[in-house]
Amino acid sequence: MPDISTAPIDQVFLDELVHFSPFAIYTCDRDGYLTWFNQAAVDLWGRTPVIGKDMWSGSWKTYYPDGRLMNQDDCPMALTLKSGKSHERSEIKIEQPNHQFKDLLVFPRPVFSNSGKLAGAINTLIDITEQKKAEKRQSTLSAIVESSDDAIVSKNLDGIITSWNNGARRIFGYTEEEVIGKHITIIIPPHLRSEEDMIIRNIKAGKKIDHFRTIRIAKDGSERHISITVSPVKDGKGNIVGASKIARDVHEQLLRENEIRLANQRLEIMNSIGTGLLGKVDEHAILQKVTDATTKITGAAFGAFFYNMVSDNGESFMLYTLSGAPKEAFERMGMPRNTEIFHPTFAGEGVIRVDDITKDPRYGKNPPHNGMPHGHLPVVSYMAVPVVTPGGSVLGGLFFGHPDAGVFKAEHQNMVVSIAAQASVALDNSRLFQEVKALSIKKDEFIALAGHEMKTPLTILKGYLQLLEKGEVDPLKRMFLDKSVHQTNRLNTLIEELLDISRVEAGKLSLQYEYFDFRKMAYDIMETFRYTNETHEIIVVNTKKDLFINADMQRMEQVMNNLLGNAIKYSPKANKVYLDMDIQNEMLTVKVKDEGIGIGKQDQDKIFTRFFRVSENKNISGLGLGLYLSKEIIERHGGTISVTSSKGEGAEFCFSIPINKQQGN
Ligand code: ADP
Repeated sequence: MPDISTAPIDQVFLDELVHFSPFAIYTCDRDGYLTWFNQAAVDLWGRTPVIGKDMWSGSWKTYYPDGRLMNQDDCPMALTLKSGKSHERSEIKIEQPNHQFKDLLVFPRPVFSNSGKLAGAINTLIDITEQKKAEKRQSTLSAIVESSDDAIVSKNLDGIITSWNNGARRIFGYTEEEVIGKHITIIIPPHLRSEEDMIIRNIKAGKKIDHFRTIRIAKDGSERHISITVSPVKDGKGNIVGASKIARDVHEQLLRENEIRLANQRLEIMNSIGTGLLGKVDEHAILQKVTDATTKITGAAFGAFFYNMVSDNGESFMLYTLSGAPKEAFERMGMPRNTEIFHPTFAGEGVIRVDDITKDPRYGKNPPHNGMPHGHLPVVSYMAVPVVTPGGSVLGGLFFGHPDAGVFKAEHQNMVVSIAAQASVALDNSRLFQEVKALSIKKDEFIALAGHEMKTPLTILKGYLQLLEKGEVDPLKRMFLDKSVHQTNRLNTLIEELLDISRVEAGKLSLQYEYFDFRKMAYDIMETFRYTNETHEIIVVNTKKDLFINADMQRMEQVMNNLLGNAIKYSPKANKVYLDMDIQNEMLTVKVKDEGIGIGKQDQDKIFTRFFRVSENKNISGLGLGLYLSKEIIERHGGTISVTSSKGEGAEFCFSIPINKQQGN
């Protein structure tokens, strides 16, 4: 093989080589004037310099690598010519006339003549712009990776760890040296090893895994809840060669999510209690709901409500509701007694919340058990909240227990206290309701009794009046007699109404169905009205020949008397009442219309309730029972009754009943 340095080389080859070299090459004479340059130099400078005129270099502007502008006669080529020494591998930046920048490595070398005198210099320029950019990108990326809070790890397709950043060290506790070259399963718990196969399978298929929540094991053996994103890593040819994994520690996030979930759950419970207790009057239901909800909300193993009862042998507390444990769990134990631990709750002295009751100085002092009786539910965490009425008396207490220590926190206490306050209001309402109910029963009993007591003398009175009617009397006495009979009849109707109320309340208003002509019955009533009432005329506006129905005739008479009587009574300035009776589709429909004082919209529903009378009409006599009874009778017949009216413009009462209803259905 020939020695390259001594091998002869053709000048033409040499010219070709430098002229078309991919490296920019140029020369200057010893005064610095450009003497020659190749095409690559022109491309790099972005301009064609003038031989013999441009000095040191053909570049438009030159800069130091840090961006400062460089005087042309300070450039490496100038320095080489001035010093006669080469300035190889200097780095500069040049600007092209189109304002593009290039990073260059320059290799200026002095050239000496045969006599050893400086003849000029030759410079080679290497464009390192792309390389510098890549370096910059790389260092930015590295800085990002290193400064990331997330763990960024890469591994090859065999699962061997190839890089490990600061975040990974912080989360998993291993240093880079400890894990590089090790298998990724070093941080995967044994029961989750199959995940790694799944991840590698996906990576090999070119698939990314996004935000996959899992658990990894740190160096100290503790669990780390993380969310991982794994992406395939490709080589320059696009082949998948490994995976990069970003893992975020989601432990705090999980805790927060958990807290939010619990807070929401509590809010829901608080809300459901609030609305659940509204209007509740059943004491047991209230206390059970409160005990269940507070047991759940506090995370107690069991909760109970004890009433503050005074027994023969002093104070003892009665178990009323229990949640989370069977009732027998307490019944075998007997009731808690007036011990140091229970006393403050039943005395309403405030909440007791203890992390470990068995270590409490008040605990275990009372014989015979000296602590919890044998077989008692294990209580370590203990909380007791008194339930005090708005009036200040202690109704009882809510008690909670848990076999672990330190379960009940201040937030649990606050919630139970607020629920206990709501419960005590609901319980108070329930008591008031029970009292009102008891009074109402007493009132009904009184009405029934009074009605019966009045009925007896009235019947006797009517008997004597009938006897007198049969005898000879002068016209004046006859008139007095008629009026007396009329008034006793009114009194009888009022007493009957009172008695009917008692019957309705007791569920004893029985109906006697019979088949009769409603039309005939209505005409008979009208006849009586004509006889007892001279002010109004009852006009039948529509009827058929006969209107046979199956119903309780007496009760239907009662309804008609009430509606026609009211129409007359509440239209003092009018003199007509209209009656419309019809049967269609197996329904009898009756309308009674007057031209009286009418009823305001706000009272139209109320007039069908017991004892309600429109306040402005109190000067017109009545008990406010007629419409209530009429409605009851119509509904018992399977029908409906309603009113259409405006204040001052008369009223129309309308009822419908089926014509073939049978007794008892
Ligand atoms: P009472 O007539 O004995 O007061 P009701 O139960 O029959 O009792 O009627 C209840 C109330 O309804 C009456 O007090 C009266 O204010 C109103 N009312 C009933 N019928 C009419 C009517 N036709 N026009 C105006 N108001 C009426």
